[in-house]
Amino acid sequence: MLTVEWSSEFGWEKPHIKPFQNLSLHPASSVLHYGVELFEGLKAFRGVDNKIRVFRPDLNMERMNRSARRATLPSSLGVKKPSKALLLVILSPVGPYFSSGSFNPVSLWANPKYVRAWEGGTGDCKMGGNYGASLFAQCEAVEHGCQQVLWLYGKDHQITEVGTMNLFLYWINEDGEEELATPPLDGIILPGVTRQSILELARQWGEFRVTERYLTMGQLTAALEENRVKEMFGSGTACVVCPVSDILYKGKVLHIPTMENGPELTSRILSKLTDIQYGREESAWTVVLS
Ligand SMILES: *Cc1c(COP(=O)(O)O)cnc(C)c1O
Repeated sequence: MLTVEWSSEFGWEKPHIKPFQNLSLHPASSVLHYGVELFEGLKAFRGVDNKIRVFRPDLNMERMNRSARRATLPSSLGVKKPSKALLLVILSPVGPYFSSGSFNPVSLWANPKYVRAWEGGTGDCKMGGNYGASLFAQCEAVEHGCQQVLWLYGKDHQITEVGTMNLFLYWINEDGEEELATPPLDGIILPGVTRQSILELARQWGEFRVTERYLTMGQLTAALEENRVKEMFGSGTACVVCPVSDILYKGKVLHIPTMENGPELTSRILSKLTDIQYGREESAWTVVLS
């Protein structure tokens, strides 16, 4: 096998031809060439009582099964299987699922030239290819001084997800109703555990409309002009919720007044979910490991 290593420090190093040995992953594995891969992300929390808890792991396992089925990898759902597969479980105090714990708002770059997911695609599964394909857009967002990508879809510029998080808009909708809205699971949205938990909590609170509906840039722009936007935030296991402060769209910065509005709802959701995760509040959503 010809091997050439690269690092930012030394660039491409000298090529070597050597046999491959002691690798648990065969260099010809489909995962390396065709991206036949899926992953999951789950955090464990050391609670205030020193017990270790995980948050709704059954939902991650169900999603993993669905992703495996779509990737034709072994799942309990039973479809075509390859002859070999490798399951890696990485226990790590760092990585994408470890958040620094800050609650800083992010700025987003919204440009329809890149598409994260599409009807009939794999955007509703946690398959590696979705993420590898999104890095280029993420780099362009950073070049434009933004932190993350706001993924748009379709001719009407539907707002779908932010970076690798689901998206919520807390606003006064077109009918004058106070509403917490997030796009529906129509195949292009990743069904987040945090998303589902926020929807369930907010519906249980029963204080405002909670809707899974399409949201477009046009609707958002109109709502901003009419002062109807309260808060916008991303949701995911890493950060729980992440406030949005600005969106760069069609060469203009749209300011989202999330932080000016508290952010009341975003903070309330963060407190509620972290109270459960760290065992400050008893909940059937956590499983105690030890
Ligand atoms: C993982 C992920 C999310 C968030 O899912 P959680 O289960 O809440 O962590 C949202 N969008 C994308 C694209 C993701 O990969």
